[in-house]
Amino acid sequence: MPRILIWQHALASLAQITAHAYYLDMSAPLIDPFARAINYLRVSVTDRCDFRCVYCMSENMSFLPKKELLTLEELDRMCTAFIQLGITKLRITGGEPLVRRGIMTFFDAMSRHLSSGALKELTLTTNGSQLAKYAQPLADAGVRRINVSLDTLDDAKFAEITRWGRLSQVLNGIDAAQKAGLRIKINTVALKGFNEDELFTLTSWCAERDIDLTFIEVMPMGDIGNEDRLGQYWPLKDLRATLAEQYTLTDLPLNTGGPARYVALEETKQKIGFITPLTHNFCESCNRVRITCTGEIYTCLGQEGHADLRAPLRSSEGDAPLIAAIHAAIGQKPKGHDFDYSRQRLDGQVSRHMSHTGG
Ligand code: SAM
Ligand code: SF4
Repeated sequence: MPRILIWQHALASLAQITAHAYYLDMSAPLIDPFARAINYLRVSVTDRCDFRCVYCMSENMSFLPKKELLTLEELDRMCTAFIQLGITKLRITGGEPLVRRGIMTFFDAMSRHLSSGALKELTLTTNGSQLAKYAQPLADAGVRRINVSLDTLDDAKFAEITRWGRLSQVLNGIDAAQKAGLRIKINTVALKGFNEDELFTLTSWCAERDIDLTFIEVMPMGDIGNEDRLGQYWPLKDLRATLAEQYTLTDLPLNTGGPARYVALEETKQKIGFITPLTHNFCESCNRVRITCTGEIYTCLGQEGHADLRAPLRSSEGDAPLIAAIHAAIGQKPKGHDFDYSRQRLDGQVSRHMSHTGG
């Protein structure tokens, strides 16, 4: 064979090998630099909300122009790309996800990944205000479990903490969700001097309704106006100790890859969760990343580092640039967060709101 042909042949083979390696890399599962497999994606579909919870937003929040948000079609493409890369659990959040116009189109579209078996769980975190309307359509789309945020069972306190919400609206939503067969977990932010006195009421209310309950420590995120975060901070170890005065607590060996730890209450057989990102280090088993409503990826809730996925998504009709950007971002996932309330300082405070990244 003439030498020039040998060279051409060799170069063509090299190109093929490189393309193959590139393809392999592109479809490789998402493993971060600390060998953590990423299989859980949380997606914020809007930064808007019909409530103004005092620990989450200031009353006069300014929201993003609508054109900044990913469209429903773009959200579909983004989530589908992640699912192809091994995401098996998808949680939709916000802001309030159910105030996003046309949101059921998105849930209905995502249900195809449940049918194919690629996605194991499609779920959402909601304030419950729109559940009366959406519980059944969500169940029809394949949602089986939802998280509903509820900090108090007292009408006046509910109005105080959410500023704009009504308790009855949320309770009706919870009823509708149970009627539609959705399993509910209540998320309650533990707030000193606010819901300390409702610990047992909330616990038995959930037991009566066969609803799971998880308490969350308040996190130092975003400017919330005049609210005092250290004043709000009720450490969950104190909450747990109070709970133990009336119930027998048994630690459960459940590890969801996140910051939640669970106990069983022997008397009621309830499962109670504690999310303590500030007092426990859960980072070594972290399996999740977050996408904001503008298509930024945050690989750690407690760090400012993020990357833009919207530009690569919009740059091409094919997904290659997007997938390359996802791999690059996962390759930068930090080891852990820096939140620390110790010595009465808010070390590691991050400037964005929880409603931006999604809780
Ligand atoms: N609007 C929906 C809701 O309230 O469930 C979803 C988004 S919200 C940001 C998600 C969760 O974050 C809620 O359970 C809320 O209580 C929690 N959250 C918001 N700000 C928080 C903060 N500063 N510290 C701890 N939890 C917070
Ligand atoms: Fe809205 Fe949820 Fe934030 Fe409350 S916690 S203001 S319901 S986004």
